[in-house]
Amino acid sequence: MLRKTRLFTPGPTPLLPAAQQAMAFYDMHHRTADFRALLTRTLADLKEFIGTKNDILILASSGTGAMEASVSNLTSPGDKVLVLTAGKFGERWTGLAKAYGCAVEVLSAPYGETFSLDEVKSKISGAKVVYMQGTETSTGARHDVQGVAKLVRAETDCLLVVDAITGLGTTHFDVDGWGVDFIIGGSQKALMIPPGLAYCAVSEKAWQRMETAKNPRFYFDLRKERKSQVKGETAYTPATTLIAGMGAALTHIRQMGNGDLVEGRKALIDSAEMCAELTRVAATALGLKLFAAKFPAAAVTAITVPENIDSSALVKDFRESFGAVVANGQGEMKGKLIRVAHLGYYDYLDTVAFAAGLEQVLSRAGAPVVFGTAVKAVQEAYARKTAAKPELAGVKS
Ligand SMILES: *Cc1c(COP(=O)(O)O)cnc(C)c1O
Repeated sequence: MLRKTRLFTPGPTPLLPAAQQAMAFYDMHHRTADFRALLTRTLADLKEFIGTKNDILILASSGTGAMEASVSNLTSPGDKVLVLTAGKFGERWTGLAKAYGCAVEVLSAPYGETFSLDEVKSKISGAKVVYMQGTETSTGARHDVQGVAKLVRAETDCLLVVDAITGLGTTHFDVDGWGVDFIIGGSQKALMIPPGLAYCAVSEKAWQRMETAKNPRFYFDLRKERKSQVKGETAYTPATTLIAGMGAALTHIRQMGNGDLVEGRKALIDSAEMCAELTRVAATALGLKLFAAKFPAAAVTAITVPENIDSSALVKDFRESFGAVVANGQGEMKGKLIRVAHLGYYDYLDTVAFAAGLEQVLSRAGAPVVFGTAVKAVQEAYARKTAAKPELAGVKS
């Protein structure tokens, strides 16, 4: 039986064909007018995609590079920073802030949950930066960025940094309205291109902090990078092909909004929300529990597998039988969860395919599955939702 590869992982995600073509043909030298035009246009489009007036930077690194930059550029050794963590990516903030000598206050919530704002409030005093995720990819939970932003803004000299690496393109953020000082994205998530680029939007307040922050930085000295990027250049050799791909992906998102990139972003987010909701419908129909049931993200859904089944076996069967790559739980959650993403270039029929595959792998692992249960539930929910809101079905991609 033929098997197509299907990436259902929360990064890397399926590639947009138009972006693949743009990357295959891009052989421009970076110190040229053509490249400057590409970078300038891509940065301007990214602003609309993120929804901010703040300056944007594109960095040649995975997402973690921009996370590290937000620590090295905004903090000094001994600074109190507050890390909000409820999963593996939250824990990355703790590791990073400790590596740069910050006095790290950690507020953690159990995996699959989110923090109470009252607790944030009780710990925020004196913090120079609050670090959090928009969506915690290891658990599938969504955090309340708006609520935390309000608390940060009540402080006199505190910045909010949001790892929105899977949040951007799947979650509605009002970056400037809420006051997010530093928001981070990655190329291999909702932007539908390969890994290798991080991007971030930085507020004026955060730029000012960089002038006094004392931690060391060189490659990721964002002030140097900003000076170059406003001229359409980069401090070092940029990942030119990936930037060409990113430009094509943003053009595609603009087309999803009939020429309006902000509308296109909303359509992309609505699409992720819809696929996520239908995935929850599929899992629930099969009697499975959602790991982050109370605050589910649209980026990724973590499904708890029955106790007598090891999720590693399901992940393996998905890959070997169907060429479908789903993610296991990370760390302590390994063997207990499967995680399926609905990020970027992922559509309704992908959701149906996942539901159908899930029935097969569960059944083979010994769970009592009535075939069609998940698929039927998904189909019915889709019909209901698109009857109520026809535009949900109508976004050409
Ligand atoms: C993918 C991801 C990252 C970045 O990981 P890299 O491997 O460095 O690209 C960071 N945070 C979250 C929430 C993610 O989903």
